[in-house]
Amino acid sequence: MAKKNIDWSNLSFAYQKTDKRFVSNYKDGKWDEGVLTEDSTITISECAGVLQYAQTVFEGLKAYTTADGHIVAFRPDLNGQRLENSARRLEIPVYPKDKFVDAVVKTIKANADYVPPYGTGATLYVRPFIFGSSAVIGVKPADEYQFRVFTTPVGPYFKGGAKPITIRVCDYDRAAPHGTGHIKAGLNYAMSLYQIVDAHNQGYDENMYLDAATRTYVEETGGANFLFVTKDGTVVTPKSGSILPSITRRSLVYVAEHYLGLKVEQRPVPFEEVKDFAECGLCGTAAVISPVGKIVDHGKEICFPSGMDEMGPVTKKLYDTLTGIQMGNIEAPEGWIKVIK
Ligand SMILES: *Cc1c(COP(=O)(O)O)cnc(C)c1O
Repeated sequence: MAKKNIDWSNLSFAYQKTDKRFVSNYKDGKWDEGVLTEDSTITISECAGVLQYAQTVFEGLKAYTTADGHIVAFRPDLNGQRLENSARRLEIPVYPKDKFVDAVVKTIKANADYVPPYGTGATLYVRPFIFGSSAVIGVKPADEYQFRVFTTPVGPYFKGGAKPITIRVCDYDRAAPHGTGHIKAGLNYAMSLYQIVDAHNQGYDENMYLDAATRTYVEETGGANFLFVTKDGTVVTPKSGSILPSITRRSLVYVAEHYLGLKVEQRPVPFEEVKDFAECGLCGTAAVISPVGKIVDHGKEICFPSGMDEMGPVTKKLYDTLTGIQMGNIEAPEGWIKVIK
């Protein structure tokens, strides 16, 4: 075993095939044992449930090398729990979370040579997903499914420091009340593609979605939760039934309260209030926190005091503490770090 010859620090966030992936099939009402395979392709019916009615849910997490040389994953049990919840909402048979963690561990182990070395900022991104694989033409759930876990090495999210981004308030909605915004499903992304391409064309990095019912409360972006900091240092995160429960955001809330002694409020956040905040960031696995410097609402600019050059001070402390915990430089809460090898 030897690390692959990859320029780790210059990897981008793009798919690159690795040696092995885990595959388990659901047939006749049960999941099989599953195997690691070298075949990175899938052959399914042209009428498969996933192709016709988008019956698929997914997860995303990272494996990386800690300061003391272990390969670890961050809270994979929460990804397993969330995939169970997502599956139930789309009538997909649950892949049990304990077996999920086993499959993730096996896949990472089998691709250990692709886990970037400590200090490069790069990680091995892990993508578990389930999809309806049998034919369905009348609208109903498929009878057969595939659960699959593949990995791909990805570069450091911020090359040369975290630069604050500019986002816009979007005129389209991401998720309806009582819809599917709280589950991790490809369908939530398909309908966001038009908006993100348009945002990029207009010079914005991301879309801020407001609640679909009243368009007065902050929800999230296409793929990350918001975290705000008030002028007196309180951390505020939007609460809503149509936001995807980010594991990064939940971990940051814990870090804010238990490591940094900050006050945290998880509550509905009126868009009206955003102009009064001191800092803003986007939370997700990929970046941990991506600082937001400016929000544009139909020509009206909200510029956070933290500016366009660096992360705000509280955001930075949160970022440093959580990444310190992940990398093994700060003691982690019980159960947060899953040692793979
Ligand atoms: C995956 C995802 C996030 C971030 O969740 P993490 O568990 O922190 O990676 C946020 N919003 C949406 C819509 C997502 O799909």
